[in-house]
Amino acid sequence: MHSEKKNETVSLHVTDLGRHGEGIGKTADGYTLFVPGTVPGDEVEALILKAGKTFGYGKLRQIRKASPDRVVPVCPCADCCGGCQLQFMKYEAQLAWKQKKVRDDLIRIGGIQEPPLGPISGMQKKLRYRNKAQFPVGTGKDGKPVAGFYEGHSHRIVPCSDCQLGAKENATVIRVILEWMQEFHIPAYDEQTGNGLVRHVLIRKGTATGEILVCLVINSTAPEKDNRNPGYSQKRRKKKKAEGLRTEWKNELIRRLTEADSFFEEDSFLTGLTINYNPENTNVILGKRTECIWGKPYLLDRLTSEKYGFSVTYQISSQSFYQVNHEQTQKIYEKVLDLAELTGTETVLDLYCGIGTISLYLARRAAHVIGVEIVPQAIEDARKNAELNDIQHAEFFTGRAEKVVPELVRQKNIHADVVVVDPPRKGCDPELLRTILQISPEKIIYVSCDPATLSRDIKYLTENGYRLAYAKPYDQFGMTVHVETVVLMSRKDT
Ligand code: SAH
Repeated sequence: MHSEKKNETVSLHVTDLGRHGEGIGKTADGYTLFVPGTVPGDEVEALILKAGKTFGYGKLRQIRKASPDRVVPVCPCADCCGGCQLQFMKYEAQLAWKQKKVRDDLIRIGGIQEPPLGPISGMQKKLRYRNKAQFPVGTGKDGKPVAGFYEGHSHRIVPCSDCQLGAKENATVIRVILEWMQEFHIPAYDEQTGNGLVRHVLIRKGTATGEILVCLVINSTAPEKDNRNPGYSQKRRKKKKAEGLRTEWKNELIRRLTEADSFFEEDSFLTGLTINYNPENTNVILGKRTECIWGKPYLLDRLTSEKYGFSVTYQISSQSFYQVNHEQTQKIYEKVLDLAELTGTETVLDLYCGIGTISLYLARRAAHVIGVEIVPQAIEDARKNAELNDIQHAEFFTGRAEKVVPELVRQKNIHADVVVVDPPRKGCDPELLRTILQISPEKIIYVSCDPATLSRDIKYLTENGYRLAYAKPYDQFGMTVHVETVVLMSRKDT
């Protein structure tokens, strides 16, 4: 029987980390407590915030003896920001934990007894590796506009313009935008009332090109000429339009941001400024319509495979997905090519293809590539990217992979030697997996950002004619709990 109660302070020996990066420890009488910000090997005192029968949640009160794996976080916001759950841990310990997490999931969820798992690939650049940042904008206690991040599990904005994972230029862009808002009395959006204008600032940087694209998300419908949404009545349209950004404000922002270029790193420059219109009462950051008010509505970046001796240039719009870590993405895509072992005669399907990133890598070595992606803007980018790189044998389809692929099988009787999937965290749709089995490719290459759903899908595939031939984790998201895995499934009869 455990006697631990809420609001009690207990001593704890931390021995493990939970899924969300919180330390897990036991009290002297064996009660389990989850405490964020603690590291395996720590001896701590923690306040019990929530006490269940067998386990509870606590708050770190004091470190009595620090783990040898504990380090002082670089970022002053590490404590209150939910983003970097592992910044308290030595990088090597972070890698070891991620490797173990993938292995454990493959065994426990995937049912693979001895996973053929390569060693995790770590990042050279441990900070400032993210090429994308999104800052919510709000109003501070003093009435001035602020930008930063949401405090863990809340919608309170903690001011912070220089996340250590992001580009150095972000801080300059944010400073310019906040000063501009303050001087022209442009109000930040208020989630409670639905009033105000500026909701988010999105900044993307092409690591190889230095191009910076800034997107300002505002609480307004798109200007009349762009607004083809019949859901808005004339009256509402007028009202919303009046609340939009005035032309003189836009011009002033353009002037200030283009001048701020001089504060950027030597090879970096502003390539475009876009306004995204999101009048909905929603947590979704981007609305449907984007207007480019200066420069280009997209940025360019380049990924290179030294091993295969080529580069691919990509155009990336504000709405399209693009991998956030340039260094690791190059390694992952190269691994996909290694595992595909293409000879130049194959047909390859790239499902969840985004802007055709993997598709165009594969196209360098395959006879025919078919990409499928749900976001229309991303498919527009993908087609443009094929053109940009002079690739004629890649075609792209818009829609849900689980709907489009069965249709392609039914109507065009498509076949594929290799199928690549790179789904979001929830993994592949069961209908899609069934269709892949029907296509029966020799190889399935699965790029996953969630080892749990990956393992669930591997289990299904191993029960239906495939075996797990190889898996390798990649640290794309250092300092956070996330881990990417590349997997090769081979047809058992090959
Ligand atoms: N392979 C790409 C994109 C991977 S991210 C790359 O490496 O850059 C996952 C992509 O899946 C996103 O672009 C997302 O828009 C898309 N997506 C999400 N659900 C989908 C679905 N049901 N069908 C097709 N694409 C989907």
